[in-house]
Amino acid sequence: MLSDTLPAPLIVPRPEHPISRAHISPNALKVLNRLKQAGFQAYLVGGGVRDLLLGHEPKDFDIATDATPEEVRGVFRNCRLIGRRFRLAHVFFGREIVEVATFRGSNAEDGSGAQVTEQGMILRDNVYGSITEDALRRDFTVNALYYNIADFSLVDYAGGLADIEQGRLRLIGADPVARYREDPVRMLRAVRFACKLGFIIDPDCAAPIRDLAGLLGGISPARLFEEALKLFHGGYALQAFEKLRHHDLFAQLFPATDACLARQDHDFPITFVSRGLDNTDRRILEGKPVAPAFLFAVLLWEPVRLRYHALLAEGLASAEAMALASHEVASAQQRRVAIQKRFALPMREIWALQPRLERRQGKRPLGLLSHPRFRAAYDFLLLRAEAGETDPELADWWTRFQDVDAAERARMLGGSAPRKRKRRKRKPTTKGTAVEAGTVKDTASKVDATTSAQPRSGQANE
Ligand code: ATP
Ligand code: MG
Repeated sequence: MLSDTLPAPLIVPRPEHPISRAHISPNALKVLNRLKQAGFQAYLVGGGVRDLLLGHEPKDFDIATDATPEEVRGVFRNCRLIGRRFRLAHVFFGREIVEVATFRGSNAEDGSGAQVTEQGMILRDNVYGSITEDALRRDFTVNALYYNIADFSLVDYAGGLADIEQGRLRLIGADPVARYREDPVRMLRAVRFACKLGFIIDPDCAAPIRDLAGLLGGISPARLFEEALKLFHGGYALQAFEKLRHHDLFAQLFPATDACLARQDHDFPITFVSRGLDNTDRRILEGKPVAPAFLFAVLLWEPVRLRYHALLAEGLASAEAMALASHEVASAQQRRVAIQKRFALPMREIWALQPRLERRQGKRPLGLLSHPRFRAAYDFLLLRAEAGETDPELADWWTRFQDVDAAERARMLGGSAPRKRKRRKRKPTTKGTAVEAGTVKDTASKVDATTSAQPRSGQANE
């Protein structure tokens, strides 16, 4: 069994490690203390401990205990039990949720442990056990460090402290292949933590990934959507993209895009995706909002674009060609990474607006300014222009069109202003010049009202 191959736990007393209660969320502390008072063991574990040791601010605090989910519910009124594959207790404090997991038992070969498929994948993991067993079934050594609320010591069952010092991600146990087979998502987690922490993936753990990447085909598209968002909205999207491609994992998530990227004839697609992801990273760094719709619009644009041009060549009108191309690419993608409807619809609108942004005559551009997806579509156009896929002059035109005053806008629109002038001139009491000014003003106030209602960034559109 796994436990035979691992060292005895290293226990680091409070004075010898840097984790202080001052760095732990007060609500997580409340949960730890209440469990302790109720006579249970309670530890902070996982990303919270790892991030505190590295001096990062933890995203959330996970707690492990010997209390069963039902016993946890008995201690907290503000508690709900969730999950089938992995049953957990959520303790609610307003908007903050503290996740409490019962120690899991090891995956015993006699079948008394978790439910496992023939390929070795864990279907359900609701067999409870000791803290030692719990540590050994976690994914990486650096994620298996426990902070004990009873004496504030740190407990390391898997060599995680040494790996933190060396900046190394290592799967627990001697057989990385078996650990990936148990849960193929661990391959994506390896890439994510390598990016997030700036760690290297231990060579023994990196080597089998390419051969096992196909196992991700057995993971639910809804779970892969969550993982994809974590990979690309963590502030290291560009690096994640490069690492995913390096390990042949990107093709598992975005097969149509990967097929386009693999073509050798020119380097446009890779430039476009890289620029889009870099843009997302910069926005996160600057504290600006980012939208899944924009992200997936970037990630899937190349197959959409190619299909769109093929349909145009077959004689379809542009709106129809874009609608069909979007539909085909988005539906095929749902089989891998299920993009929720609330993100898929705006994603398709961003694409649908691309050909519409090319028409600059008449009243159309003014109408587009008030489209709820205009800012996102415009940001998208900028990326296309930067990547050399569309004429930068078009992007510049739209940049100017938004910035200039109403009179200049009317001039930029060319054909539309004279038509209006003609109609009004028929009124006998009004002079031509005054009417012109009035027309412009009317248009201006309409446009101002609509543009000011726009979010400041396209990516903020969901
Ligand atoms: P972060 O929250 O920063 O993304 P994390 O390490 O806390 O990182 P979570 O997904 O919150 O990641 O999981 C909490 C802990 O649960 C992990 O640290 C790890 O110990 C364990 N864990 C999560 N997913 C798996 C998995 N697929 N296999 C084994 N253990 C896992
Ligand atoms: Mg976490």
